[in-house]
Amino acid sequence: MTAGPEAAGAGGGPAPARTEGALRCPVCGARFRATADCSRCGADLRPLMALAASAWRARRGARVALRAGDLTRAEEGAAEAERLHSTRSGRRLALLAAWYALAAPGDG
Ligand SMILES: [Zn+2]
Repeated sequence: MTAGPEAAGAGGGPAPARTEGALRCPVCGARFRATADCSRCGADLRPLMALAASAWRARRGARVALRAGDLTRAEEGAAEAERLHSTRSGRRLALLAAWYALAAPGDG
């Protein structure tokens, strides 16, 4: 984990559609292709894209907080990201943040 938050496989690049928790059209189940409308049924996917983007930003914020030692913010950000759009790396991040918070000195 030395390549920074935007590294491949660490929860996505600038495009939320590249996160490994593959998005699917909620109407027909077609694979998400990072277009505003579903390529199969034409459903408006913008709300879904907005959610995934919010989750991506929350994960990024959580990583920044984790590196800065702000464990509360890291945990909250990771949990928020998982609520919005659960991904494998997001679950790992949430676990990591929770683990760091547990291991932090002076917190009981
Ligand atoms: Zn569709």
